[in-house]
Amino acid sequence: MLKQFSPDKMLQTPFGITAEHLRKLGKTTVLTDLDNTLIAWDQLDATDEIINWFTLLEEEGIKVMILSNNSEERVARVAKVTNIPYLAKARKPLAKNFHKAMERLDSTPEETVMIGDQIMTDIFGGNRQKLTTIFVRPVKETDGLATKFNRMMERIILKKLSKKKNMEWEESL
Ligand SMILES: [Mg+2]
Repeated sequence: MLKQFSPDKMLQTPFGITAEHLRKLGKTTVLTDLDNTLIAWDQLDATDEIINWFTLLEEEGIKVMILSNNSEERVARVAKVTNIPYLAKARKPLAKNFHKAMERLDSTPEETVMIGDQIMTDIFGGNRQKLTTIFVRPVKETDGLATKFNRMMERIILKKLSKKKNMEWEESL
């Protein structure tokens, strides 16, 4: 059971991930969570860091899409500045929108990574669809209320993971 919740990688930040890293792993496509993965959950506007990262990946031929459980309004505000396609209200960990995203990008699970800051939604959802999953440290320590229960579950899982698999936070892929 632990396997379903176990990320393939744990990174301090997603912004060190480059097209070269991804290609070496045979990956062409990035699905990424938004809140607390790329930006603090309570910050409204896209940062230069996000814009630069998206631009670099796309210039190097990597397909990128934001897959967020947050509202259309919230996600659109960040995505439109960066010109990145997105799916809002994705209801991760449910399968439907993982499939929809890959269909839109014309990508397969084998060539796709899912990046996110939550085990219960991003990592569990990605693992179930057989994506390569990258767990990142949340941008901001505090969370919205809706996330509290998930974080509690996550702490239990992370403890087990560090014991069993010796997983640790790494700097880059
Ligand atoms: Mg998140």
